[in-house]
Amino acid sequence: MFATAKTMPKPSPATHNTAALRELDRKHHFHPFTNHHRMRARGARIITAANGVYVYDSDGKQYLDAMAGLWCVNIGYGRAELADAAAAQMRQLPYYNSFFQTAQLPAVDLAEALTKITPPQYQRAFFGCSGSDANDTIVRLARLYWQLQGQAQRQTIISRHNAYHGSTMAGASLGGMAFMHAQGGLPIPGITHIEQPYYFGRAQPDEKLTEAEFNLKAAHALEAKIKELGADQVAAFIGEPIQGAGGVIIPAEPYWREIQRICKKYDILLVVDEVICGFGRTGNWFGSDTFNLQGDLMTLAKGLSSGYQPISAVMVADKVSAVLDRHDHEFSHGYTYSGHPVACAVALKNIEILRHERIIERAQGNMEYLRARLQTLAEHPLVGEVRCQGMLGAIELVARKTEAETNVNAQSLPLPRRFDANAGAGALCRDFCFANGLVMRAVGDTMVFSPPLIISRSEIDEFIEKARHGLDQTQHQLAAD
Ligand SMILES: *Cc1c(COP(=O)(O)O)cnc(C)c1O
Repeated sequence: MFATAKTMPKPSPATHNTAALRELDRKHHFHPFTNHHRMRARGARIITAANGVYVYDSDGKQYLDAMAGLWCVNIGYGRAELADAAAAQMRQLPYYNSFFQTAQLPAVDLAEALTKITPPQYQRAFFGCSGSDANDTIVRLARLYWQLQGQAQRQTIISRHNAYHGSTMAGASLGGMAFMHAQGGLPIPGITHIEQPYYFGRAQPDEKLTEAEFNLKAAHALEAKIKELGADQVAAFIGEPIQGAGGVIIPAEPYWREIQRICKKYDILLVVDEVICGFGRTGNWFGSDTFNLQGDLMTLAKGLSSGYQPISAVMVADKVSAVLDRHDHEFSHGYTYSGHPVACAVALKNIEILRHERIIERAQGNMEYLRARLQTLAEHPLVGEVRCQGMLGAIELVARKTEAETNVNAQSLPLPRRFDANAGAGALCRDFCFANGLVMRAVGDTMVFSPPLIISRSEIDEFIEKARHGLDQTQHQLAAD
């Protein structure tokens, strides 16, 4: 990690009774996003300490965390300044709210700091506690924006299949995860989905399209949907600059250019969910900078505090806030912990460190290094594609690199062959990596990664070599099965 970083002392080797902890956890802790049946059999991995890019479990085993927690620990673990900022704020003012024309210093300062680093149209910040609740705020705000202008029928928000926008009722509805919708009767009314710009995952009918043609087609699905619904029914379009949890899907030109043209043409709000892409992840401060997006609302969370405190923000463009300013009308929405002073103080310190240590600018060289090292995995027999943007990437596992290798009629079948869903190749690879001391995540058979921005070249080498070893083991195991 960078030499200037002030870090906490390296955690001492763990002396925990893992079996007893696991038993307590199994008995009393009901986990999120977990198969409880399997969880009961296997028990949890218990993480007890972290430093830099490494986390440690209750047996003292070290893992290179190529996921930065859940895509969030952008400045790396163990920064004492953030702990100090939290402690100082707790002593000064541990809590006060922002309702009813009240504010506290850290919220005011953070709101201002955010307007300095986000694109210029964003001059106000609304605070929450998570990416999910920030997206709930956006649904409320986008609909109110149109109501106040006498267009109460403009309710529908268009999103994309396989998007991830959180796990609350509105967040999961905005998201396009079919397995989430299937539980609990989602999406809620007034949310609809179009296709995603997933070129590698395209199906047979689109096999002959170039990447640009495919992206153009995916963008035009928005216009088709608007025409189907009637533009006067549509409030907003929401998208992640790069889909994260869906498998790190990186759109190519002209996708975002077309989406923006269509939003303008039909006067539809553009909501940019930067929960993963924000705070340096894609190589610039925001995905909006990387993809040249002029959004009207922006969701921030995760890297906002580098995960050290739960906090989110909705950045509101002047165009939207001006409508609320003009009308003598209350926005009847907020959270007890909106603008929580301790979370705001920690987020402020996180932004200060990102700026003063020029962490994003300094990471750019290592992002190029990561891209080059990642490319060496593309030759692996199990790998159909590697892709990355900044410190965010994916490795696609395939049964055959292209059908051309086995089919004489190669010209008409250029698509690689995926594994059967029940082969479990991604989960297998993830488990081998864990055993080797590397945290990567599997989205189906897509391995995804998003390491802390402070990862060094030697740590990138370690990441790639451990990933290669995991791929070898996975290939062996699949061949044996
Ligand atoms: C993680 C995520 C969310 C939800 O954030 P939570 O803090 O888990 O509620 C929303 N949008 C995107 C793009 C995310 O990756």
